[in-house]
Formats: sequence, C-alpha cells, structure tokens
Amino acid sequence: MEKSLCEIRDSAARVLERVNAAAERAGHEVVLVAASKLNDPERVRAAFDGGVRHFGENRVQELESKLAADAYAGATAHFIGHLQKNKVKSVVGRVSLIQSADSPELLRLIGKRAGELGIVQDVLLEVNIGREAAKSGVPPEALRELAAEAAEIPGIFVRGLMTIPPAGEEKEKTVQYFEQTRKLFIDIGAKKYDNVSMCILSMGMSADFEEAIACGANMVRVGTAIFGQRYARA
Ligand SMILES: *Cc1c(COP(=O)(O)O)cnc(C)c1O
Repeated sequence: MEKSLCEIRDSAARVLERVNAAAERAGHEVVLVAASKLNDPERVRAAFDGGVRHFGENRVQELESKLAADAYAGATAHFIGHLQKNKVKSVVGRVSLIQSADSPELLRLIGKRAGELGIVQDVLLEVNIGREAAKSGVPPEALRELAAEAAEIPGIFVRGLMTIPPAGEEKEKTVQYFEQTRKLFIDIGAKKYDNVSMCILSMGMSADFEEAIACGANMVRVGTAIFGQRYARA
C-alpha cells in the first residue's frame, strides 16, 4: 500500500528525529536529504511538512518537472543519480549540490556550464567503494587522481565524497565500506588540493543511515523510510 501524505509527513519527522539522535551520539551535525525519486510534488511537500529541507533526485526529467511545480520551495534540491553528459546543462545551477561526479569529463562539463552561468557549482565525488562493475562512481584507487584533476577545473568546487556501498551485504560488511570511505575522505582532505575541501561525507540510506552516521557521515540520503516503497508511475 502506498503511504498517504499524512504518513509521509509523520515518517519524515520520525526519520529526522532518528538522524538527529544518531548525530548527537556521534557528536557532529548531519543533514538529511530525502531521496524523492518517483514521488510527486505533493509527496515532496508532505516530507517538507515533516521537517525535511533537502531533496535528492536521480533523474533529470523528474528534477525539472518538480522544479517547475515548485516542489522544493523553502528547501534545496540535490542531484544524486548518475548524470549523463548530455544532461549536464539541465542540472548545473539548479541544484545546490551534484553528489554524483565521477569522471574528469563530467567535472569539465559541469565546470564549463557553471562558467557560462557565471557560478561555481558544488559537487561531491562519488566513490564506488565496493568496486562493483555495474555501478557509477570512481574506484577508491582512482580517487586521488580525480581530486587532483578537479583542482585544475574552474567552475566547480568539490565539497566532499558520496558513496553507495554494495546492496544486500551484512551490516558488518557495510560498516567496513563506510569506514573505508571515511578514510579516503580524511586522506583526500589532508592533501589540500585547490578547489577541494572535504567537508561533506554523504553515505547511508534507509537501511543503514544510523551506522553511516556513527562512521562519520554528515549527510544521509533516505528514501524508502520516508516515502515508503517506490511505485513507478505512468
Ligand atoms: C534511492 C536512493 C537513495 C535512498 O535509498 P533508500 O534505500 O530508499 O533509502 C539514496 N541514494 C541514492 C543515490 C538513491 O538513488
């Protein structure tokens, strides 16, 4: 059964409480980003009413239609999905953070578009921490080089890292991936590249955001626990 708007509002408030409690235990602040793919503007507004102030979209078309409907009024939008090079223009300058930058070509295109708009676009580098063949993100061993290249690209500012560890693993294994990502975050932060400042560590989803926060995440992306199961709509 699809969650009602009222249930979404209450779930959002509960998830926010859990995030804040985990943040307090960990001793740092944490930003909740609601992953709102396949949820329409009304449902986004219900999560807003529950206290959510950041929304992450995976698909450019959905981002555009929700922006047009003013779904994120009073909140900020993030892009968290795989960004195709031919869609860069539709995203740069329209979201506060592109969380899924994973190649020099993509970073250059983002920077070029930002230059045209006269802005600097904040991005995160996405790490494929489990080195999964079918997943986007740069493998851990290639991250330093990507950060070094990013330092040379005008129009972008790298704020941190994002990762999605392999699905369906034991909790302990997932925690290991979170810890590995945190190590990379600290390593890269110590390097002091230009235009790179490791401030945001975005990891943790519905099933594991409390563990991620305990491992140092200061941004979590939560979908199902807020909106319920996702249904593809016509
Ligand atoms: C859908 C999505 C999430 C949230 O996943 P849930 O398991 O539903 O919480 C987080 N990050 C990204 C990149 C997503 O696409």
